[in-house]
Amino acid sequence: MALDIESIRDDFPILNRRLPNGKKLVYFDNAATSQKPQCVIDAMSEYYSEYNSNAHRANHTLADEATTALEEARNSISSYFGTSPDQMIYTSGATEAINLVSFGWARENLEEDDVVVITEMEHHADIVPWQQLSKEKGIEVRYVPIDTNSFTLDMQAFEVAVEGAALVCVVHTSNVLGIRNPIERIVEISHSNNARVLLDCAQGAPHERINFDDSGVDFVAVSAHKMGGPTGIGCLLVKKDAMDQMGPFMTGGSMIKTVSTNGSTFQEGHAMFETGTPRIAEAIGWGAAVDWLDKFDMVQVHSHINKIASWTAEKISEIDGITVYGDPTRQDSSGAVSFLHDSIQSQDLSILLDEGGFAVRTGHHCAQPLMDALGVPSTNRASFWIYNTMEEAESFVEHLSYVVERFSTS
Ligand code: PMP
Repeated sequence: MALDIESIRDDFPILNRRLPNGKKLVYFDNAATSQKPQCVIDAMSEYYSEYNSNAHRANHTLADEATTALEEARNSISSYFGTSPDQMIYTSGATEAINLVSFGWARENLEEDDVVVITEMEHHADIVPWQQLSKEKGIEVRYVPIDTNSFTLDMQAFEVAVEGAALVCVVHTSNVLGIRNPIERIVEISHSNNARVLLDCAQGAPHERINFDDSGVDFVAVSAHKMGGPTGIGCLLVKKDAMDQMGPFMTGGSMIKTVSTNGSTFQEGHAMFETGTPRIAEAIGWGAAVDWLDKFDMVQVHSHINKIASWTAEKISEIDGITVYGDPTRQDSSGAVSFLHDSIQSQDLSILLDEGGFAVRTGHHCAQPLMDALGVPSTNRASFWIYNTMEEAESFVEHLSYVVERFSTS
């Protein structure tokens, strides 16, 4: 059955918003964060108004309800990602999940001169932790370049870089270019070189159903907030044998078994990595988001988004002075259209678009090495999700054409 976009839109109250200037909101900043369906807002508000309490501590009714809801959310989320609750560690988002690999696994298992392979396409969240580890432990960080004609990863360079590597960290889908990397090949090549693989799925998970167990990947980092869930929560999915090699990251309450003045002992499995009061409302909200998303066929969702993105990219590249970075017309591209105008500064352009009601992002998108490779300091980026429509894309192209006609000096 085809996606019913109008009824999907009805689930998102914010999509009816008008901006202070009276313009109807057209939200094209989904790669920064998606909007939230009413069921997510309700689930979080119900927790606060009906059973707000701490989890995994007291025995009273509210504490029991909060603990059950937190763990039921873990069941829903891990099952959505094709794995068991034991393999899932709640984090504050993809950033903390990647730091957890760096602190919890890499600091325990890597030594001076061990190699971590990353790519020029990574978000800063998957660059800086490895640079810091390099400073501290003397590991070598190898960067795989992108081919700036096709905007894809240079797989020949990847095959060379992976030789002798201990860990490969790759973004599933670029938040700037919308390009999906050839993950299956990357995993195969990495594992045949005995390297573990960390996949940054912050941008991939809202566009494709990730099956962790089937993927063979060792670590997967996800954020909830780009897939309809709240901010402040995400997870790290970890293969059992990799989790067995991990040591504690943040220490304190909840992650301990015993504490005495002589020292402490720690919980085992995922509980060792969940320190302090859990993000209970956020976990419940994320659980509601995956239950909502589970109703849809993600292949259909992807093709709906891909259709809007490729049409938009084609149309705006016909506008005088606009250059599109990346190739949103590729079938595997996931709905981020990065572009620049040759005489209207990106910041000015985004303000002019906002005046028409269009929310797009401007900046380096936390991917400065990629900006360097593209030879630009920033881009404007329109990014789409399940509730966006072709009509919105048409009005965007129309408004952008008007802005360029009116303000271009080229
Ligand atoms: N990786 C990618 C590809 C991203 O797009 C983002 C968020 N923009 C992150 C990592 C970091 O996610 P978060 O800020 O939710 O931790």
